[in-house]
Amino acid sequence: MTAVVDPATEETIAELESAGVEETDAAVARAKAAFPAWRAVAPAERARVLRALATLVEEHHEELSRIESRNVGKPIAGARGEVAMVAQVFHFYAGAVDKHLGETIPVAGGVDMTFREPLGVVGLITPWNFPLNIASWKLGPALACGNTVVLKPAELTPLSALRLAELALEAGIPDGVVNVVVGKGSVVGQRLIEHPDVAKIGFTGSTEVGREVMRGAAGTIKRVTLELGGKSANVIFADADLERAAAAAPYAVFDNAGQDCCARSRVLVEKSVYDRFLDALVQATRAVRVGNPLDESTEMGPLISAAHRETVASFVEQEPAFQGEVPEGPGFWFPCTIVEARETDRIAREEVFGPVVAVIPFCDEAEAEAVRIANDSNYGLSGSIWTRDGARALRVARAIDTGVLSINSNSSVRVSTPFGGFKQSGFGRELGMHALAGYSEVKNVFYSTE
Ligand code: NDP
Repeated sequence: MTAVVDPATEETIAELESAGVEETDAAVARAKAAFPAWRAVAPAERARVLRALATLVEEHHEELSRIESRNVGKPIAGARGEVAMVAQVFHFYAGAVDKHLGETIPVAGGVDMTFREPLGVVGLITPWNFPLNIASWKLGPALACGNTVVLKPAELTPLSALRLAELALEAGIPDGVVNVVVGKGSVVGQRLIEHPDVAKIGFTGSTEVGREVMRGAAGTIKRVTLELGGKSANVIFADADLERAAAAAPYAVFDNAGQDCCARSRVLVEKSVYDRFLDALVQATRAVRVGNPLDESTEMGPLISAAHRETVASFVEQEPAFQGEVPEGPGFWFPCTIVEARETDRIAREEVFGPVVAVIPFCDEAEAEAVRIANDSNYGLSGSIWTRDGARALRVARAIDTGVLSINSNSSVRVSTPFGGFKQSGFGRELGMHALAGYSEVKNVFYSTE
């Protein structure tokens, strides 16, 4: 049995059987059996049931938000935003079903055309930080393309995925198309990676396990999409609207208690405004409301587990420039922490995945130096540039090796735009029409007219 714990109270909120290899194989067999009929469903009908699922998510918005808030310890206001996005994702991919087009290609002697074929059974392995959201980013395009799915949520946070699977059935998605298996990554995840009947793994999680996915997938030449860690830079030039940039910076790293692959956990500040910006950042961070996730005004909750809190704490080796307060009593709390760092410090290089931000000055040739430091990382997932100089903003945006960048903003994720990493942040794109490429195969057909 696995105990599912509320990280804010340390109370057990559910106990679940942990599946093993046998249950995983049974789920793959169900998904395989359901595939021929699901791929043959008329596009308009597939779109209709996906839209019905989106509507059911909207109807169960508060229930799903509360499940997510309690299981992850995330503030209820944020959980509501995430569940709203889940519904939008299913609406988007319902609309995409009949817009994922093939081509006709001019050739001699006949007609050449391409089709987008589903892959078959896809295994989805998801993390604990945004459980329902990230599941929907994979389920939406996978189902729209006509695949069937075995979803393995993180053992720490399986509750919202289980509820979503019930809603999928209620929406009219046929039995066997969406299967959820709760169990350990090293057992259920590993079996999905190696299973000969699983055509693709869509994975979000650590770079370390991402490597395991690639290694394991080699045996059966599985398709793989990897969305891994990040150490993204928030670059503040001296000509930026500093008040706006400083007011936005805490959210960019303390949202979800910093357990966010897109966290701008390195703030690079041009030296001439460094002190001013740091002061403003401390003021803005002081105002972050940390506490009971179910309280409407809470902006930051606890970390996911005691073990993770220990890992996060181990990164804070130097005296912080600022450290906030946390509630007393039970819960895996960790305060908002600002550290002045050098680019070579561990805290400036490794993914902390907690509410800890490293502030680093840059000088000399400001633009070149900022790009050099931003790119001096194994990761390349997201990032921000704050400047009033539009040409510079675009030059720097083109020069930073990262999959998602915002100018004068810290947002990374939109339903209709591609999301994914460069370098060891992974490959493949989620969201938008780009995600469909990861859940389909291009087939080329030539029809002789001679
Ligand atoms: P993991 O990468 O271990 O977990 C992500 C998912 O992979 C979970 O469902 C997990 O299952 C599963 N998994 C674990 N091991 C295997 C395996 N051998 N084969 C197949 N699947 C597996 O992340 P952690 O939870 O350990 O977090 C560690 C660090 O990873 C974080 O501190 C953060 O730096 C990074 N991370 C990044 C995320 C992102 O959004 N990119 C999300 C989560 C973590 P289970 O947990 O049930 O065993």
